[in-house]
Amino acid sequence: MVNSVVTGSASGIGKAVCEQLEAQGDRVVGIDIRDAEINADLSTTEGRQKAIDETIELTGGAVDRLVLAAGLGGQVTDGPLLLSVNYFGTVDLLDGLCDAMKGRSGASAIVVSSNSSQFGSDADYDNPIVHALLDHDEAKARELIDPSDGGMGYMMSKHAIVRTIRRRATQWGSDGIRLNAIVPGMTDTPLFQGVLKNPEMAQLVDTLPSPLGRVATPEEIAKVIAFMLSDAASYIHGSVVWADGGMDAVIRPDKF
Ligand code: NAD
Repeated sequence: MVNSVVTGSASGIGKAVCEQLEAQGDRVVGIDIRDAEINADLSTTEGRQKAIDETIELTGGAVDRLVLAAGLGGQVTDGPLLLSVNYFGTVDLLDGLCDAMKGRSGASAIVVSSNSSQFGSDADYDNPIVHALLDHDEAKARELIDPSDGGMGYMMSKHAIVRTIRRRATQWGSDGIRLNAIVPGMTDTPLFQGVLKNPEMAQLVDTLPSPLGRVATPEEIAKVIAFMLSDAASYIHGSVVWADGGMDAVIRPDKF
């Protein structure tokens, strides 16, 4: 039996991943703030610990696949909350469940970042908020960010989480666990619908290039995640897979 664990399972991409993995026969444990097998608030350390403890209990301490998709969109005007859910709600579960994945054949984890992780300038690489995230200093990161700037919280958390998984490539690789990130572009989910309801953000979305001329369905992103988790991707590790319909190629054609 393959035990798969998915955060953000109640909606959008996470929900589509659960459906995809269940269809292929996995035993799927969903984690979300609501409507999940494990209901836990990933914005708090207590909620994250609850999610880890209950996952270990439900899986008997054996996790084969882990997908970290829970997140809030930049239209949520609470910078600190965005950092706590999107960054710490991801990395704490990753680290908290690492031991449960060790020694499992084909163990694989994937975090869901975003193509907005590269929307800022190159200076973002040295942004103090990003450094506080990478240092795992939640109090400092929350203090540094503009309390009402959800957009900044979104970009910083999605940027830092990619660097976080790349920094773990050596340790996780030697533990026999593949660890990767997917970077989706605009995907038709409740989160994206929320972005479109915010006039300022909707205007920004209108200016973004879309070579394929459409947004993704959550199922399209879930299929890429299922592939990344599968043995067909057995040599992909520490990688960042872009599934954004070509948007990044237009914005940054000479960088990869
Ligand atoms: P969604 O809103 O449909 O799903 C997100 C899920 O996260 C929800 O079920 C929600 O309840 C859960 N969640 C939020 N706060 C939580 C908390 N404190 N504790 C536990 N669970 C919590 O959104 P989605 O579009 O499916 O987003 C999934 C992931 O994909 C997110 O990390 C998002 O940043 C990323 N992403 C989405 C898009 C897009 O256009 N939709 C693009 C790039 C990246």
